[in-house]
Amino acid sequence: MATRTTDAGAHGRFDAFELSAEGGKLAGELDARTLPRAADHLAAGADAAPIAWRITGGRDAAARPLLTVRLDGAVPLVCQRCLQPFVAPVAQTTDLLLARDEAELARLDVEETEVVLANATLDPRNLVEDELLLSLPLSPRHGEEECAAARRPMADDGKLSPFAGLAALKGRNPD
Ligand SMILES: [Zn+2]
Repeated sequence: MATRTTDAGAHGRFDAFELSAEGGKLAGELDARTLPRAADHLAAGADAAPIAWRITGGRDAAARPLLTVRLDGAVPLVCQRCLQPFVAPVAQTTDLLLARDEAELARLDVEETEVVLANATLDPRNLVEDELLLSLPLSPRHGEEECAAARRPMADDGKLSPFAGLAALKGRNPD
């Protein structure tokens, strides 16, 4: 029999229905830069992007099996206003209803916002990556006080800018 190997220190795949029935918990920590889909959204550089995660099995009010995925951490993003990197906190809790098959997934998807197909074992890293991607802002921005673009002084109206003056000087040079 082949030995299944997993990332050092990481949890392997797990049975979501079993975790739900047991009310079990899985937890770990990872660097969001090692998640291929999430890494594309992070600011370039070597800053760490630590995410502590916790997956708890349980049931919703209607006794349907679910997983609660909790993420806590911080990731470097690029402000779309001033194009400078900044560190954005991640604090996300999501309840994911479990679907036994495609048909149940389709049915629950209409009624509920968050459903995961759990007919096979799940990889915690995939769940964490999915939830992280959903928690990232579509257009990341600094807060108003921290953003360099927001602090930039307004140009004085009606005055010739130094660049316009320079252009005028250059224009006089015969070539
Ligand atoms: Zn900014």
